Amino acid sequence: MARYDYGPLPYRPAPELSGTASRAPVVIVGAGPVGLTAAIDLARHGIASVVVDDGDKVSVGSRAICWAKRTLEIFDRLGVADRMLAKGITWKVGRLFHGDREVYSFDLLPEAGHKMPAFINLQQYYVEEYLIDRARELGNLIDLRFRSRVTDVAQTEAGVTVTVASPDGTYELGAAWLVACDGSHSTVRRRLGLAFEGTAFEDRFLIADVEMKADFPSERRFWFEPTFHPGETALLHKQPDDIYRIDLQLGPDADPEVERRPDVVRPRIEKAVAGRPFEIDWVSVYSFRCARLARFVHGRVLFAGDAAHVVSPFGARGGNGGIQDVDNLAWKLAAVIRGEAPPALIETYDAERVHAADENIVNSARSTNFMSPRNKAERMFRDELLAVSSHFPAARPLINSGRLSRPASLAPLFGGAPPGAAAPLRPGDPCPDAPLGEGWLLSALGGGFVLLAVGMPAPVVEGVTPLEVSACGTIAERYGRGLVLVRPDQHVAAVWPEGASAETVAAARDAVMEGRGVHALPPRALEDGEDADARYATLLKLHRGLSEEASAALNARLVLAMMAAAGPAVTKEALEAVGATMETR
Ligand SMILES: Cc1cc2nc3c(=O)[nH]c(=O)nc-3n(C[C@H](O)[C@H](O)[C@H](O)COP(=O)(O)OP(=O)(O)OC[C@H]3O[C@@H](n4cnc5c(N)ncnc54)[C@H](O)[C@@H]3O)c2cc1C
Repeated sequence: MARYDYGPLPYRPAPELSGTASRAPVVIVGAGPVGLTAAIDLARHGIASVVVDDGDKVSVGSRAICWAKRTLEIFDRLGVADRMLAKGITWKVGRLFHGDREVYSFDLLPEAGHKMPAFINLQQYYVEEYLIDRARELGNLIDLRFRSRVTDVAQTEAGVTVTVASPDGTYELGAAWLVACDGSHSTVRRRLGLAFEGTAFEDRFLIADVEMKADFPSERRFWFEPTFHPGETALLHKQPDDIYRIDLQLGPDADPEVERRPDVVRPRIEKAVAGRPFEIDWVSVYSFRCARLARFVHGRVLFAGDAAHVVSPFGARGGNGGIQDVDNLAWKLAAVIRGEAPPALIETYDAERVHAADENIVNSARSTNFMSPRNKAERMFRDELLAVSSHFPAARPLINSGRLSRPASLAPLFGGAPPGAAAPLRPGDPCPDAPLGEGWLLSALGGGFVLLAVGMPAPVVEGVTPLEVSACGTIAERYGRGLVLVRPDQHVAAVWPEGASAETVAAARDAVMEGRGVHALPPRALEDGEDADARYATLLKLHRGLSEEASAALNARLVLAMMAAAGPAVTKEALEAVGATMETR
């Protein structure tokens, strides 16, 4: 199989250099997956953009491979999912091993009734290639310029000007808005002098793509301390073209120069693939960090994707999070440019996607800490959890090998009531898909305001498309009976289980367009939350800085306090069962 052809992307001199340019409403810096998606989404809303990128190739080497259901739903709305599905490897099951023993498996989409799968694996270069082809189909609205490096940015209240260096000279490009999608080392961010704060992880990881004929099923496989790579973690993913992604944790002291050498890499891979013949396609040694900008909106400059936030890849939240950024942004920016909404609507992008970035950062930081315990107490908890989980299935969900990308619910920002039987969805929730006739609900919702009427007539509201469906089947289960106002990014804007008048619906739509109803929360602390991972993180935090003796005493106190709190639920037999697991230690 021929390896991917990174053939150069075409370049032509910019019209600004010959004085024939016309000003586009939006300039997008960066033609990675996020910048390209932004351009396509804006074009679908009728807004033209110029996309400038310093390279002349799609993404080279081992980068994103796992694309989540929500991202695929967005790509489908933009008319580019079919190719991705046809080429990608569909999967939904993850398997977790401790040593060589399987301890746990999970199914990321156990229910039927969704057009898109839980995940596909597809190399980032294919994703970018397909997005570029789609952008070219919308060519009259998207001006793609490669070999064009942005070197400076200036903005006024009315617009932005970027300085672009190209092979034929340097020129200035003006626009009303700038969407900065120029990646983790963002020039735009640096030129605006914005801090990018967060946590760096010390561990290094060997990330290898190898070509190999093998019969591994289409699943995610993750090992803690496998015999083929003692004391560390390993991850295996299948990709198209008989390529497998192998991630091997190397520890904090690994020397990247040495670890990249073929004579060091090959024996490691040979062990991981149990002696099967393979060829190395690409090898990198990475370390990761979680960081974000304090705000994503800076006047007329709007940050998205890795330029706004970065995470470690365990959870596949980087690229997926970035695509969801521009899904949130494009319709708002289009409405503001068309004069249909005030700039306050753009502020909701900041509140909503900062909230989503925090969710991604919390999850990805916890996964990385679980893989790389930072001290003796954290390692003890990790190792004992892995040991006890083979005896107690209830402990298994605490094992954290990466909490995989899920769509962010914006519901906490709307302060809505918890979902109930009458209205299973809250304002802010992403719309779930469901079969609809011969097709699918999300395809029918499209990219505008829709009033979904389940089992009742939809009032006629200007600027809102009605969609009436009967109150039976999967749609009724997932949405309940009533009216649901859906935003152009397929998030729920409002729910009326008893129905609502045209005036009420129109007022709700106006509130969304005017940026009312969303309350920015204070930034979330890293260990905030109610779920099991948050409790586990709190447990580790309690042990930070304690001596071994104090740590053991704290554990005794915790056990006693929990026994007291649980009362008769902790039986003598239950205690003896945990004690018995020590015999296998
Ligand atoms: C090993 C690894 C595995 C990963 N796996 C996953 C995964 O499975 N799933 C997932 O969702 N994410 C994953 N990620 C993260 C994912 O690759 C990134 O989040 C994603 O590439 C971000 O896209 P972006 O468009 O924001 O930025 P980028 O992809 O970095 O694109 C930025 C673009 O801007 C251009 N640019 C930069 N500076 C300038 C400038 N001054 N002027 C003009 N152009 C400029 C660059 O050339 C580039 O084309 C992984 C990352 C790594 C490293």
